Amino acid sequence: MSNFILDNALVLTMDDQFSMVADGAVAVRAGQIAAVGSSAQVVEQFPLWPRYDLQGRVLMPGLINCHTHLPMSLFRGLADDKELMDWLNNYIFPAEAATLNEDFVRTGTALSLWEMLRGGTTTVVDMYMFEKVVAKECARIGMRGVFAQAMIDFPTPEYRTWEESLEGTRQFIQDWKGHPLIIGAVGPHAPYTVSPEHLRECHRLAEELDAPLVIHLCETRSEVELIQERHGRTPVDHLDHLGCLSKRLVTAHMVWPQDGEIAKLARHGVGVGHCPQSNAKLACGIAPVVKMLQAGVHVGLGTDGCASNNDLDMWQEMQTANLLQKLSCNSPTVMTARDTLHMATLGGARAAHLDHLVGSIEVGKRADLIVVRLDAPHQTPVFDPISQLCYTTKSSDVTQVYIEGELVMSDGNVPAIEEAELRLAVAAEAERVQAILRR
Ligand SMILES: [Zn+2]
Repeated sequence: MSNFILDNALVLTMDDQFSMVADGAVAVRAGQIAAVGSSAQVVEQFPLWPRYDLQGRVLMPGLINCHTHLPMSLFRGLADDKELMDWLNNYIFPAEAATLNEDFVRTGTALSLWEMLRGGTTTVVDMYMFEKVVAKECARIGMRGVFAQAMIDFPTPEYRTWEESLEGTRQFIQDWKGHPLIIGAVGPHAPYTVSPEHLRECHRLAEELDAPLVIHLCETRSEVELIQERHGRTPVDHLDHLGCLSKRLVTAHMVWPQDGEIAKLARHGVGVGHCPQSNAKLACGIAPVVKMLQAGVHVGLGTDGCASNNDLDMWQEMQTANLLQKLSCNSPTVMTARDTLHMATLGGARAAHLDHLVGSIEVGKRADLIVVRLDAPHQTPVFDPISQLCYTTKSSDVTQVYIEGELVMSDGNVPAIEEAELRLAVAAEAERVQAILRR
């Protein structure tokens, strides 16, 4: 791991002051940000370090995808235009039951990382089965994240019983303790697929291992009704009653919280991964993001898995999030370009409880940095780079990605991924899935 300077950039730090430095530079020492400032200042501080000229491009923190299921890129386009419960129970769960194994998970993870790194995502909050395989592939390719072992009250291709999944999750989290990129987590699927007693056990395990707890919560109106019917409480209150609300909890969706529940989320420091495109595609509703942010809830953005999006593009997610809030609040002023970029970076880091490590360019944080060019036709001219980054930037405008100070993507090329080989593996898995589902 080397020391170097990225200079001649428009540095967008995304810190709480929203500081920007024109003709700026960032110095990286052993995977950590060592200095931020004008090119002249930074070069003076470290005169002997190699310099890479960014030709005036934007240098900003990498994007944080607060909710996804990486291996599901292999189910992209498998079942579109269905109701959520029809989609889950009649397509996704059966497809998973019939096809999942370690090779599938490894190939799907690599495919997702290939797409994500080309688009500037540097941290993921993932939840899936065989999460140890997901984590291993991410460590190999160089992606940072919170990796939640999915747990559910019925047998899966990975674990036959709840007890096995609990033990497997414990082992998985312990195995990755201390890794620079990988944080193992406990991932009860949702309150409608995991019993109250099992949710308590998940929370206890997370506490015992000092690990994050990741769950789908308040995704649809029917979930709210179902939990109310079964347990006499709405979903957030249900988790609160079980003692599961805490600073280690990262929830996905949160489309239908009650006002009192929003206050609870803020009070307990619970993170929310807002997934506007998945929620729109499955017609779940529009999450009250502005309301949650005003109440002090940490809200980040997530793509959800590829089966319900159908891609992992965080720039599209920003645009959708922004436009849906404007529409649903009937006001173009409720969410600015700056608010939206914040959700994709520092806000997302707070939602994932990783803001001590990533989310902004500040001395001492890990060097997860992306370079974005603003000279494509759809970006020209540039009056306000913040506006451009929120409303017109595409994944293809990201030219370099650094994670932990390592160059993991450059001009579309991901050095850790052998493209021809990956394409063959993806084609083989897709063929296998199709053959099984045809039976
Ligand atoms: Zn999900």
